[in-house]
Amino acid sequence: MTDDFLDIVLKPIGVVRSAMINPDDVPMAGQPGRVEIFPQYSEALHRIDENSHLWLLLWFHKSDRNCLRSVPARVNPNLPEYGVFGLRSPNRPNPIALTLVNLDSVNGNILQVHGLDAIDGTPVLDIKSYYEQDIVFSPKTPYIWAHNPVMRRNIFLKQALSHHQEECADLFMAVRMALVADEYMGHLNRPDLMLTVTGSACLADTLQGLSRARLANPPRFNFQETMSLNRSLWEKPNRTLTLTARQELNAETFTKLTDEELFIIELKEL
Ligand SMILES: [Zn+2]
Repeated sequence: MTDDFLDIVLKPIGVVRSAMINPDDVPMAGQPGRVEIFPQYSEALHRIDENSHLWLLLWFHKSDRNCLRSVPARVNPNLPEYGVFGLRSPNRPNPIALTLVNLDSVNGNILQVHGLDAIDGTPVLDIKSYYEQDIVFSPKTPYIWAHNPVMRRNIFLKQALSHHQEECADLFMAVRMALVADEYMGHLNRPDLMLTVTGSACLADTLQGLSRARLANPPRFNFQETMSLNRSLWEKPNRTLTLTARQELNAETFTKLTDEELFIIELKEL
């Protein structure tokens, strides 16, 4: 390694403007906010409005740069330690943050976005387009199980929305089914967990997005379309779980009904 590597100088190209002041207050699912690009970089925004999503590379200036291992304690204090290069921890030797945001509008040098997880005044290092080929539909990831049920629900809801792209009744149903399945069956993205959905196409699509169950290699996903029933069957080698909806859901009842009010829950140990 030469000394050249030791003196990388980065000039921020803009700054985040958000209602969030304290890093601990930033919700996992992010919030709406603005990215203000400095005038000397305006040319670099030409045609940026052709994107629905952007990667932001930010500099988390309040981070601890001496941290090499960490427990994602905000998500779950009972998790084991991980090296920070296998996590999204804000604390790391170079606190470069990678954030995927939805681009809502462009007005001169100002990008209005949502899904932003940075505090007001965060320096912006770079912006890149999000491409279709960026998607890995079913990656292998550590099971960072959120301890707090509301946080868990919000994480699932965000994932469901980025997959299904509309807040329909059966998206809410799918999120509630996935939350129960996560509790009884563990990590939903595991190669030996089979999912059979009987119900609407919206239910099936959202559950596929949440479980990352593919039709093949390995075959994990089955779907029978019907409008008369909403049911999901989750199978792994030692247990099966069937969730049958007792009623419809909407944005209001999504957070109100208990699992038992919402589903007939049948668990079988094999
Ligand atoms: Zn839908």
